[in-house]
Amino acid sequence: MQIGVLALQGDFDAHRKRLEQLGAKVVLVKKPEQFDEIDGLVIPGGESSTFLKLLGETGFEKLKQFVHVKPTFGTCAGAILLAKEVENPKQGGLGAIDITVRRNAYGRQLDSSIRQGKLGDDPLEMVFIRAPRIERVGPGVEVLATAGSDPVAVRQGTVMAATFHPELSDDTRIHTAFLEMVSAPNRKKA
Ligand code: GLN
Repeated sequence: MQIGVLALQGDFDAHRKRLEQLGAKVVLVKKPEQFDEIDGLVIPGGESSTFLKLLGETGFEKLKQFVHVKPTFGTCAGAILLAKEVENPKQGGLGAIDITVRRNAYGRQLDSSIRQGKLGDDPLEMVFIRAPRIERVGPGVEVLATAGSDPVAVRQGTVMAATFHPELSDDTRIHTAFLEMVSAPNRKKA
């Protein structure tokens, strides 16, 4: 099982370290043809508009094909790329998970914050950096984690998205859930 981490921009190396710590074999994906070598993909945080520019048309099409058939996990900017609808400003994307996200939605004071949220019923530390807010969750989408009343980690089929940065906390549960999804993609298909 090889896990790709999209390594065009952003904090891909923290994901690599975490996935390797959990025993995964990691490939840093920098070229479209590398999508053929991997069984699952992490799209890290960064700047979603910059990702779109760096991907180019070929990279974008290849990524779009991948996320519609293989397990993918996007954090922050990665979640924005996976979303069906993006506001503030409107932005195209992969349409892989039926959510609407608003970029940079928490305003200046909450720009970057560490909050105590919930993963199911259990507490989870969450690091937010210029985070988007999930404003709409479609009927086929499962909410995995919340912060206050906001959904902050969601799953539809084999696509997972989180608006925080689990790679920056010591807690490994979110990446473990992703790796489980890669090894058993058919469990709980929405
Ligand atoms: N604000 C960024 C965006 O809109 C996301 C921030 C992040 O990934 N930490 O793309």
